[in-house]
Amino acid sequence: MKESTEETVWQVRNSFFGVYVHFPYCFKKCDYCDFYSEGIGAGPANDELSLFKSYQKEVSERVSHFPNLKHRTIDTVFFGGGTPSKAKTKNWYHFLEFLRSEFNVARDLEISIEVNPEDLSPQLLEEYAKIGINRVNVGVQTRNPKGLAYLGRHYDKEKYDSLLQTLTHSPIQRVGIDLMYGIPGLQTSDFYSDLSYILEAGLPHLSLYSLTLEKGTQYSRDVKDHKKTEPEENIQSEILTALPELMEKHGYRWYEVSNYAKPGFESKHNLKYWTYEPYLGIGPGAHGMIEGHRYGNPRNASLYQKKTPTNQYEPVTPNSELALTLFRLFSPFRYLEFIEMYLDKSSQAKYIETIHLWEKRGLCSISNGIFQWKKEALLLLDDLILSIIV
Ligand code: SF4
Repeated sequence: MKESTEETVWQVRNSFFGVYVHFPYCFKKCDYCDFYSEGIGAGPANDELSLFKSYQKEVSERVSHFPNLKHRTIDTVFFGGGTPSKAKTKNWYHFLEFLRSEFNVARDLEISIEVNPEDLSPQLLEEYAKIGINRVNVGVQTRNPKGLAYLGRHYDKEKYDSLLQTLTHSPIQRVGIDLMYGIPGLQTSDFYSDLSYILEAGLPHLSLYSLTLEKGTQYSRDVKDHKKTEPEENIQSEILTALPELMEKHGYRWYEVSNYAKPGFESKHNLKYWTYEPYLGIGPGAHGMIEGHRYGNPRNASLYQKKTPTNQYEPVTPNSELALTLFRLFSPFRYLEFIEMYLDKSSQAKYIETIHLWEKRGLCSISNGIFQWKKEALLLLDDLILSIIV
């Protein structure tokens, strides 16, 4: 994506797909995290090599099931987790070589990796740049030690203190940070102090999202046992609604509820999820969507390596799913193209009728088949999306 002053209008794209790879190990399991991940301390994972072999095996099996993938082109690869920066760079390199040998790959292939602060270093970024990784996202969440302790996150003070210095001197230009707000015990001003510290560095991508309480996490058990409290919803709504204007002043485009980018620096991979493009999900706990079918892998690394059924798929249900993803976008998109491509006639009529009602209420603009939310829709978003699918 080139930097441009014109806003990108998202549209249906038919000849590409993305690859997501889940590396399930972390230094420590955070209390609020509901991704499949296991805390294993500072050392490497015992099964790292066999896990990478299983990734290749899974890709091959899924391609045998969907041979048409060979006619598409991979334009995004995303190493997520867990903490993929915990894995050896050479293993990512071999995996990328494998993909290049098996598939058509776009010339401007986006290759992203999530990095945790404890792994970040100038040397690591050099290594990544050498193997073609061209996008790095660091899960910071907060720089406040009290907040990190509340979240049960590993905190390496030296690394947290030097991370902006490292990122602003990165050989990889497309770098971003995740920050979280609404952490109990922290004030609104704590979040803004983190944000302004990071804004000064001018990184091209920021994900700013609220803490949520997910079932099955340590955090949810602690809330149930009255050891911790729920996320601060009032603070969250206040920050959520203030952010678009503030970020715009700093030159960022608000392209998804929680995501801001300098022009041309949007995450092409994450846009696939919101624009209903196909992707292979590889690794334990990963999900994929290919040729109108979804699948999910076992949330257990050894079970995944022993036996992952690669012939079990559920058909997608675009009449309801499309709204859940597409209408999270706050940048403009060609809504008529999307609904004509994915929905049956009666759902198309329902979508169009509802969108016109939203326009009358001043919640969105529509023109020449292009849809864009207005800020007024933000706090109502969940209900609005629900209203289009029921
Ligand atoms: S580091 Fe990330 S993936 Fe790992 S437990 Fe924490 S939030 Fe989850």
